[in-house]
Amino acid sequence: MNTKEFDSKYIAGTYARFPINLVSGKGSLLYDNEGKEYIDLMSGIAVNTFGTADEEWVLAVTEQLNRLQHTSNLFYSDPAPRLASLLCEKTGMKKVFFSNSGAEANECAIKAARKYAALKKGKDCYKIITLENSFHGRTITTLAATGQEVFHKDFLPLTEGFIYAKANDIEDLKQKASGEDIAAIMFEVVQGEGGVMPLNPQFVSAIAEISKEKDILLIADEVQIGNGRSGKLYGYMNYDITPDIVTTAKGLGGGLPIGATLFAEKVESVFSFGDHGSTFGGNPIAAAGAISIMERLDDELLKSVSEKSDYIISALSGKKGIKSVSGMGLMLGIETEKDASLVIKQCHEKGVLVIKAKNKVRLLPPLNIPMELLKKAVDIIISACEG
Ligand SMILES: *Cc1c(COP(=O)(O)O)cnc(C)c1O
Repeated sequence: MNTKEFDSKYIAGTYARFPINLVSGKGSLLYDNEGKEYIDLMSGIAVNTFGTADEEWVLAVTEQLNRLQHTSNLFYSDPAPRLASLLCEKTGMKKVFFSNSGAEANECAIKAARKYAALKKGKDCYKIITLENSFHGRTITTLAATGQEVFHKDFLPLTEGFIYAKANDIEDLKQKASGEDIAAIMFEVVQGEGGVMPLNPQFVSAIAEISKEKDILLIADEVQIGNGRSGKLYGYMNYDITPDIVTTAKGLGGGLPIGATLFAEKVESVFSFGDHGSTFGGNPIAAAGAISIMERLDDELLKSVSEKSDYIISALSGKKGIKSVSGMGLMLGIETEKDASLVIKQCHEKGVLVIKAKNKVRLLPPLNIPMELLKKAVDIIISACEG
């Protein structure tokens, strides 16, 4: 049997995979098992921040791998606290809890918000407002937080206490936040899986105002847009807000599983011994890789992300077959006249790896993709959209 046959025979059928078997890569290029070359415009869904087999990241990871791969959280170990200090220095947050995925980072935020609200405003205050079309993960509780019924339907009952407000609709948000039982508002500043839709600044300011008025915690889900992808270190930094809790994962590890929940001063002491934990959380190898990623997300790199974003948007906008381009930084969605799946298939055939988000072609290139490769890929996308 070949890989595809083993996969369909033995792997639970939850993924509709593209018919491509990736075996290796270097930087922003990937190769399949037949030696075909692809330009990578998806970074393994915003994970491979500096592309594939990036030398600095590989060095950081292998040095730690050769020293000590795991300690358990019963002992001290160098990488995780160093990574936490970098995250706090760069964001102004005060404390970090490490886990292994975006869903777990959000679970931790939800637990923290419930405990904070229960202590401060009483145990009946536990509801969390999220937005329609949001995506926060696949566990029963983060599914409940996800404002998309398609993901809910076969898994009821979900964790209770989530209320969905319409994104970019201030009146709806005000109405849903009017009760005294709201612990937190959780949102992605750019909805990723929901179709690469940025929240507008007025709406984000309204979220911040309501949260201040009523001591409702602000939870920014930065799992996809975070870690440099927006052109700022975290997506919320493009808006005039300071969240109480920031969650991230995907690109933080540069290719290894890690999740992080960052707490601002107000909530830094909400957890005490035994309140939360994770066997693998803050794993030394994942953390060593993440340190090397965080250290490189400097102003110069972030500026180049914005420049590449401007280039893609201006190159694609108004082209034949392209209705609109949405998103921020190097997280962009193309609304195409043709069915997006067809455009994606043609891009793959022509050697450019892109993925889908709702009805859009989604672009998530490595943040350091060379300009020549990006231009080549954009030309191929344009020809796939018009043809
Ligand atoms: C991918 C994603 C998640 C879930 O992350 P996992 O690592 O798959 O659990 C949560 N929130 C957002 C915004 C995401 O894009």
